[in-house]
Amino acid sequence: MTTTDSSQRHALRMPVLFVGHGSPMNAIEENEWSRGFRELRGLVPEPRAILSISAHWFVTGTFVTANEAPPTIHDFGGFPEELYEVEYPAPGSLELAERAAELVGGGSSALRTDWGLDHGTWSVLRHTWPEAELPVVQLSIDARLPGERHLALGRALAPLRDEGVLVFGSGNITHDLRDAFRRLRSGDESTPGWAERFDAEVARALERHDGDELARFVATDLGRRAHPTPDHYLPLLYVAGAADPRDAVSFPIVGFSAGSLSMRAVLFG
Ligand code: ZN
Repeated sequence: MTTTDSSQRHALRMPVLFVGHGSPMNAIEENEWSRGFRELRGLVPEPRAILSISAHWFVTGTFVTANEAPPTIHDFGGFPEELYEVEYPAPGSLELAERAAELVGGGSSALRTDWGLDHGTWSVLRHTWPEAELPVVQLSIDARLPGERHLALGRALAPLRDEGVLVFGSGNITHDLRDAFRRLRSGDESTPGWAERFDAEVARALERHDGDELARFVATDLGRRAHPTPDHYLPLLYVAGAADPRDAVSFPIVGFSAGSLSMRAVLFG
């Protein structure tokens, strides 16, 4: 039987995935993280498209990329030339952009063509889906919203799972870049207690499907220590929101980069 109804083509409910992207260099280095990104492909059914919530589109509003051919954005400074030459030419999808905008209550004013795919998205996806054949749409993170609103937006996106769309969050469960750079410079890549504790508490809340606690965490003292700014934590709330208690929870990647940067990946379903 043939059908053009994408939701019928994908009878499978898609899992939801959060990935710790870490250094932009993971995009071009062969290391334990990039190997982990590559292995994620075997853990999820092939999606029809990907909706990516990247820490690096942190703005005042909830927007979606509506470009037919989203540009690869090199949103970092001071890295080797080779990294600026990376292109991830995945197509966009106006259909998915409009559907996501509708689900988050944004309508056509949420559709934007002045962004594209930033390195939160492509530094991971170029390992997981190197052919860049799947359409990718990014959803921005509204910097003004409290944790529970991000969780609610994630819940609103859950129907995409039955439409063959992989809801994909990219950030880091702990992220204090100044601390990470200091450790890299000094050669002391030990993991500080605050990073171990926050990462472990988040993992336990994920296993309990306790989205409300996850939404509160980032505003605690420990949460602020782990995230001087919350941008790298918030993609996790979209993923936790799109998950439900029936989903199995697993952590296909764990560990710390530069001592204090949690690289934990989370798979629901
Ligand atoms: Zn980042």
